[in-house]
Amino acid sequence: MPAFDLIIRNGTIVDGTGDKSFTGDIAIRDGLIAQVGTVTGDAAEEIDASGHLVTPGFVDIHTHYDGQATWDQEMAPSSWHGVTTVVMGNCGVGFAPARRDQHEWLIGLMEGVEDIPGTALAEGMTWKWESFPEYLDALEELPRTVDVATHVPHGAVRAYVLGERERPGAVPTADDIARMAQIVEEGVRAGALGFSTSRTVIHRDIDGEVVPGTTATAEELIEIGRAMGRAGHGVFEMASDMKREWDEFGWMGKMSRETGLPVTFAALQSIAKEMPLDEQIAAMRAENDNGANIVAQIALRGNGIVMAWQGTVHPFRFRPSFQAIEALPWEEQRAKLLDLEFKAQMLSEQNDLSQVNQDILPLVMVVCGGWAMQYQMDPDFDYEPQPDESIAARAEAAGKSGEEYAYDLLCSDEGKGFIYLPILNYADGNLDFLETLQQDSDTVNSLSDGGAHCGTICDAASPTFMLQHWVRDRARGTIGLENAIKRQCADTARLYGLEDRGIIAPGYLADLNIIDFERLKLGKPWLAFDLPAGGKRLLQKADGYVATIKNGAVTFREGAWTGATPGGLIRGPQRVELAEAAE
Ligand SMILES: [Zn+2]
Repeated sequence: MPAFDLIIRNGTIVDGTGDKSFTGDIAIRDGLIAQVGTVTGDAAEEIDASGHLVTPGFVDIHTHYDGQATWDQEMAPSSWHGVTTVVMGNCGVGFAPARRDQHEWLIGLMEGVEDIPGTALAEGMTWKWESFPEYLDALEELPRTVDVATHVPHGAVRAYVLGERERPGAVPTADDIARMAQIVEEGVRAGALGFSTSRTVIHRDIDGEVVPGTTATAEELIEIGRAMGRAGHGVFEMASDMKREWDEFGWMGKMSRETGLPVTFAALQSIAKEMPLDEQIAAMRAENDNGANIVAQIALRGNGIVMAWQGTVHPFRFRPSFQAIEALPWEEQRAKLLDLEFKAQMLSEQNDLSQVNQDILPLVMVVCGGWAMQYQMDPDFDYEPQPDESIAARAEAAGKSGEEYAYDLLCSDEGKGFIYLPILNYADGNLDFLETLQQDSDTVNSLSDGGAHCGTICDAASPTFMLQHWVRDRARGTIGLENAIKRQCADTARLYGLEDRGIIAPGYLADLNIIDFERLKLGKPWLAFDLPAGGKRLLQKADGYVATIKNGAVTFREGAWTGATPGGLIRGPQRVELAEAAE
């Protein structure tokens, strides 16, 4: 019998600790890393990784696969980008606990906030659960390519407890709060890694109402934090508009000090945030200097919208001519859109914004006419576009109006053209501000939103973008490979108490990527209609992932799923038994 299950030979090992990379072998046995260095002995399979990077599997802590993970085993697109562990249930939305008569409402909440097609969720999910622990049991039944972990989502908990009384501005009683805290404690004890909430006017359900918890008081949030404290673990995750009157850092600091648990928030540069990003970071550091443990989740590129005729939004979404054809089958829509008379008619019209909520009106205006903020997605588009790539600049050079240029662009590629509109994290017209933030230990790589915003973004590709753009190609300055890998593996894992992964050393999970770094390249995004009920999602692949390995099993080779499903549900924090494995 061979000594090992798998040996990866001669790779450039970036071990996730931040230490300098080195050339060596990795031997795997029973799903764990058994030896690193020069491995003698044989294995059932050997992979020659000469000239390639070998990194730990990526750990993505900000995803929304809550529905998809109950029916899908491949877990694309995250699994196509070297991710071997996802944490879902972020931003207060999810599907447990759930009363029978709330299924439709919870789906509407997810569709509104995260732009996941409701018809896909309705067809895909079995709803074999009511309580949060029952939901975890359902997740555990289906093996998949990656490990999944969850938060208990505030929206579902609040609706479960308040029932009919849950509506914007609803004030829970002390009993309600105690009941919510109890449900969260039960969920965390059953294995959830934390709790999440949303406090942003951008997050709305399908009917346009702000999501439950948006207006929750500090008392409610702190009481829930205490419940996790009693359970002994859990991360408190939050997305917020950072309104000054809410004093977010005040209660986050208090909760974190009192419970000893980490609190983490979406740290974005955005005009929608009352506190600018540098002020958010400064306020966080003031609390941390005072004994708190708050961690800022940063995105590595502009968070925005990829716009297409068939996407969820595009600049002509509110013109009467478009609204008249949007229910038609795509082939018929396309024939109209490519017709010059139809185009002339559409360009002569005003937007009909009468149905648009006041709070999101500024965003809609940018979508419909912010040509200086919109960019042409060329084949080699790098997500850090310069001013001369904007629609405004290209239109001027072409002697066209911005709207006509945008229209023609969407019609290119047989009606499948894309426009990029980074709404968040791109106020400066570049990503320079992220350069220093990626050196700090109180920030963590995040906000990929994997599995969500299906018709508008595909940031699940973030780990690939990080390596391709930030480490290798960025003309304005790069960051170190070892630091980048540590941030995407060990740092994200540690925040959620997953100490058994993210590092290449004996005793750790054999979650690995073999990457042809020179060849690594994001593909062109495309709209697929492959969710249940034909639901649409933006997908993006990458070249250069030679193999991805989860628990010692090869899950992907050159971007193709092998059919292996070694991943499972993570229950609670994980420790690693190093002494035993050292031999
Ligand atoms: Zn989110």
